[in-house]
Amino acid sequence: MQKYDFLIVGAGLFGCVFAHEANKLGKKCLIIDKRDHTGGNVYCENVDGINVHKYGAHIFHTNDKAIWDYVNQFATFNNYVNSPVAISKGKLYNLPFNMNTFYQLWGTQSPEEAKTIINKQIEKFGVKTPKNLEEQALSLIGKDVYEVLIKEYTEKQWGTKPTSLPPFIIKRLPVRYTFNNNYFNDKYQGIPIGGYNKIIKGLTEGIEVKTNIDFFEQRKELESIAKKIVYTGKIDEFFDYKFGNLEYRSLRFENIRLEKENHQGNAVINYNDTDVPYTRIIEHKHFEFGTQPNTIITKEYPEKWTPEKEAYYPINNNENQKKYELYKKRSQTETNVIFGGRLAEYKYYDMHQIIASALQKVKKELKK
Ligand code: UDP
Repeated sequence: MQKYDFLIVGAGLFGCVFAHEANKLGKKCLIIDKRDHTGGNVYCENVDGINVHKYGAHIFHTNDKAIWDYVNQFATFNNYVNSPVAISKGKLYNLPFNMNTFYQLWGTQSPEEAKTIINKQIEKFGVKTPKNLEEQALSLIGKDVYEVLIKEYTEKQWGTKPTSLPPFIIKRLPVRYTFNNNYFNDKYQGIPIGGYNKIIKGLTEGIEVKTNIDFFEQRKELESIAKKIVYTGKIDEFFDYKFGNLEYRSLRFENIRLEKENHQGNAVINYNDTDVPYTRIIEHKHFEFGTQPNTIITKEYPEKWTPEKEAYYPINNNENQKKYELYKKRSQTETNVIFGGRLAEYKYYDMHQIIASALQKVKKELKK
């Protein structure tokens, strides 16, 4: 019996936005998730009044007014601006790469002075069409910034040489010749007041949700209860790895409660040296300007992904990308399955992009 119009596999942002829009149009949806909570990786756990980002820091940012208005239906956002600080060889640097960083590196005080140094290094490198992350970084920002703030962090984060990673990854970070430590260039930015769970709660209101359900453990039965499936899990797993395994990068989080008000003075501090095993320490209360007497910090350790671990990042190198294209082609022959999200599209999506993609897919689907 097809009791539902849509079975949504995965209660992350993609699945919840899709379900919300379909439900609004009168479609009957069931959302399932193998975890014991909804929200996917945006899920927060409230500890001592602090919203702890359980699966890594999530800072919402977008240039798209429609997406900003969309999320603001469910929560009010504060005016948090992400301004991480990086520690390299015992020295502090502002991120992203801006006039403060250049002053800290070389003592330059004017954009001309900084540009002269950077352009000289870029020219010396001389590569016009970068083919990997290292070449992209060297041709964008020069050798010094690359060596102090990018090389080791990237090796640690991805567990591989920057020469075997795609160029686009480093283009996520702005380079600017102003004294501006805002990590993003987008017009709208903030953290939902009350945490991301509030948004998920709003999105799933009036929709049936079942947690602790593993799609693959009862696939046949689950496939029979809905007309269509919205699948947001790993695409290679959906097709039983028929074209081989895609690679992912995993993370391990170490949460520590400290009996003090302020541990590091910033929400995000990056540790850019390889001899420190974690890439960053998050102090969650600073996302919401918390004034609690204690604090919760999280050390983020990148890890090799194995099937029993969470897949956080797709590793979009050429080999994996080629494999993904085979899966994608195969997925297009599945007329009753909609694939979406970071894992099903094997794409390094941010939250705003996931929402835009879900809205676009649900619109296309329900216009039929
Ligand atoms: N990155 C770096 N140094 C830093 C911060 C970032 O080299 O201090 C590089 C690194 O390769 C990382 C990429 O920039 O994977 C993207 O960083 P972002 O902060 O966007 O990563 P996310 O927060 O999505 O993990």
